[in-house]
Amino acid sequence: MELTTLVRHGEPVQLAEIDPGFHAGLGKEQAAERLEALGPKLAELTDLLFAAGMHSLLIVLQGRDTSGKDGLIRRLLTHINAQSCRVAPFKQPTAEELAHDYLWRVHAQAPARGSIVLFNRSHYEDVLVVRVHGLVDADECSERYREINAFESMLHRNGAIILKFMLHISDEEQKERLLEREADVTKSWKLTVGDWEERKLWPKYEKAYEQAMGHCSHEHARWRIVASDHKWFRDLAVVSALVDELEPYRAGWMAKLEAQGREQVRLLKEYRAGEDAGAV
Ligand code: AMP
Ligand code: MG
Repeated sequence: MELTTLVRHGEPVQLAEIDPGFHAGLGKEQAAERLEALGPKLAELTDLLFAAGMHSLLIVLQGRDTSGKDGLIRRLLTHINAQSCRVAPFKQPTAEELAHDYLWRVHAQAPARGSIVLFNRSHYEDVLVVRVHGLVDADECSERYREINAFESMLHRNGAIILKFMLHISDEEQKERLLEREADVTKSWKLTVGDWEERKLWPKYEKAYEQAMGHCSHEHARWRIVASDHKWFRDLAVVSALVDELEPYRAGWMAKLEAQGREQVRLLKEYRAGEDAGAV
């Protein structure tokens, strides 16, 4: 069952029509049970991806401040073997990064075959935050949508499975989470005055997200919008989408590993036969 909203390339996206509090009629306990069953499947599939070394997995996470990117990453890392997985956070570009094209730092973090990278923010910041703050105009943004599509298509042709998630929270939920952080000394380090300033730009961000997702959601690099006001539902929705997307690769990965195993056994038999012959 699809728990997220799939964005189809070229179709208009209207975030206002997607309820951030959606939970598919599930309760917290039920969601936890489902997640408990899905977690081992995700672990198994990502282990196969690692062992087969045929594909890489790029998981792009976008969302407003407090939308839960960090929390979701913590959850995903409980299911994915750390040996094959790494997180790449994208902050405000450094002077060196700014002196290059905007995809330079992103391409450098792309996963190799057999590995998984979680992008905490991404190249999409270059059509979101910069667009909202007027650092690039609409024409430049259109150019960037094309470049991003070409970039993702190139990664895909080279073996990358690309899954993109937009964590969708409501205005009220964000306000509550920001105030919660302020009241909790263990969390207030995460806060900045800028978080409240960015809140004022909510409608502009909404539009920028809608445009970016509508222009950059090809079959091989689809955006999914995740209702994220309930953290337990957000985690379940993303893990469930990952399992659904990876499952079709299982047979190909298994076939490669089985062939590899048969070859190793054949070599071992040959080796033992040689040893036996030598002993005579
Ligand atoms: P956080 O994810 O809370 O650590 O914040 C990272 C900050 O870096 C956010 O405010 C992003 O909007 C900002 N950021 C990330 N990438 C870019 C970019 N390419 N240009 C400008 N700001 C960016
Ligand atoms: Mg922040």
